[in-house]
Amino acid sequence: MRHDVVVVGGGAAGLAAAAYAARAGRSVALFERQGRLGGLVQSVARDGFVFDMGLRAVENAGIVLPMLEELGLHMEVVRSPVSVGIENDLIRVDSHASLADYRDLLVRTYPDRAADVDRIMALIRRIMRDMDVLYGIDNPLFKDVLRDRRYLFGTLLPWMVRFVATIGRINRMSGPVEALLDELTDDPGLKGIIGQHFFKGTPAFFAMSYFSVYLDYLYPRGGTAALMGLLEGFVREHGVDVRTRSPIVAVDPEARTVSDGDGGAHGYRTLIWCADLKALYRAVDTTAIADPRLARAVTARRDELEACSGSDSVLSLFLSVDEPPATFAAVSEGHLFYAPDARGLGDLHTWGLEELLARHVDGPLPEEPVKAYLDAFFARTTYEVSIPVLKDPDLAPPGKTGVIVSCLFDYGLTRRIQDAGWTDAFREHAADAMTSALTKQLYPWLGARVRSRFMTTPVTLEAFTGNTDGAIVGWAFDGAHMPAVHQMQRVARSVLTPIPGVLQAGQWAYSPGGVPMAFLTGKLAANRALKGR
Ligand SMILES: Cc1cc2nc3c(=O)[nH]c(=O)nc-3n(C[C@H](O)[C@H](O)[C@H](O)COP(=O)(O)OP(=O)(O)OC[C@H]3O[C@@H](n4cnc5c(N)ncnc54)[C@H](O)[C@@H]3O)c2cc1C
Repeated sequence: MRHDVVVVGGGAAGLAAAAYAARAGRSVALFERQGRLGGLVQSVARDGFVFDMGLRAVENAGIVLPMLEELGLHMEVVRSPVSVGIENDLIRVDSHASLADYRDLLVRTYPDRAADVDRIMALIRRIMRDMDVLYGIDNPLFKDVLRDRRYLFGTLLPWMVRFVATIGRINRMSGPVEALLDELTDDPGLKGIIGQHFFKGTPAFFAMSYFSVYLDYLYPRGGTAALMGLLEGFVREHGVDVRTRSPIVAVDPEARTVSDGDGGAHGYRTLIWCADLKALYRAVDTTAIADPRLARAVTARRDELEACSGSDSVLSLFLSVDEPPATFAAVSEGHLFYAPDARGLGDLHTWGLEELLARHVDGPLPEEPVKAYLDAFFARTTYEVSIPVLKDPDLAPPGKTGVIVSCLFDYGLTRRIQDAGWTDAFREHAADAMTSALTKQLYPWLGARVRSRFMTTPVTLEAFTGNTDGAIVGWAFDGAHMPAVHQMQRVARSVLTPIPGVLQAGQWAYSPGGVPMAFLTGKLAANRALKGR
């Protein structure tokens, strides 16, 4: 059967693309390799606890709520305030004014570095003003600009003037955050505390906008996957042919067909690829392409992408704790960014790790030196701690609390450990070390109260989504080359591929990705498909 639009990948981007194409009356098929939709946004129930397996809270970014409104969907949201802590000193972040508390927290931690802290704060304050412009209005892509004259004249046109003035400043801050921090301070601890929870080489503007992001989080009642559930309901109601457990393994760009794992072929007028991008080019048999120019273009793009890596990935520990939510609420909000050691990671996770892996490049990675590295890493990294029941009381059994603890983690190290055959020992060791980092000062009773635990690693994420290197926001920024659009003013081009009739969307189309940009690119791709491009 031939569809107007075939969407591959049922994550945020694929769901948005399918929703908009179907809403316009096109026949749409959506193929997803897993048994359920949502991609990296999943919430699972275990023994009465609901755990968000990927995304911990939803950033609106002027995109998510306007998109839901445009689709006529209502998401019940609850407050999702953030706390920030270093060692045993924590603050709550609930307004722009909290920046002053954050400054004081940093000065208390680094008393000799007050001048450096003030320089960093001045920069964050300026970026927050730019973020208020960038995400300060409902994104025009999700508004009926020509009909909504109040929005057009009262909001959009005045905003465009401010946007033009702001975007130049944003583009000038596209260098790596590490280089920017080097200019602001030479204190390794302060640099680490500010910078170590960003992906390596993250563009400085994106990284340093974190304080604005803290104020922009929403939490869907029922867990973050409730957002994906709404979109899934929408696409099913609008007649999308949803095929789960259906990986697309081959694409014939001349016949305009895709083939699923069972050998079934499905025709398309437009294909929107919302999954790992290396997989798209691997799925095309270039030797079977009759047009030599197309064969060359596909081969060139495939070779370009094969040389690129995915962004950092994440290690997550899920704890069921015999302690009531009130005990956790007395410490922090339900979403906490926490560094257990003011010294930060220093060079441990960069050249320290490289050196460790290089020392054992031949043969399997041995346990002992890696465990020593892990002990130091987990004692000094920054954690994102999420406690769903503090946001929605239905998400844990009475008197108990589910806690999600995560940190950025190197895919290559996890892969080498898996290849060496000691993944189970690694998981136990990592879970103990992470728990003890939080028990030391944050939750002194935690170690004794954990009743059960499980973990996901970068390799788990890779296996679940097929995403290169277990990446969660697209391409690495510290590689030699960034093969995707990464500037907001060029976002419309991010969905284009060199293959006629094939568009792309999601974290591999625009990096760094994330849910709002997945939705935005999903809609952009659907719009192009509707115009037959
Ligand atoms: C722990 C964690 C925290 C995060 N925190 C944030 C945050 O705070 N803010 C934020 O914005 N983002 C965050 N993210 C990132 C965000 O979740 C992702 O960037 C976003 O969900 C990506 O959506 P996507 O649709 O582009 O890709 P994915 O979610 O990866 O979806 C791709 C889908 O394609 C499917 N697929 C792959 N290959 C095939 C094939 N051949 N055939 C059929 N289907 C296929 C996969 O199974 C998957 O379902 C976080 C992610 C994680 C894991």
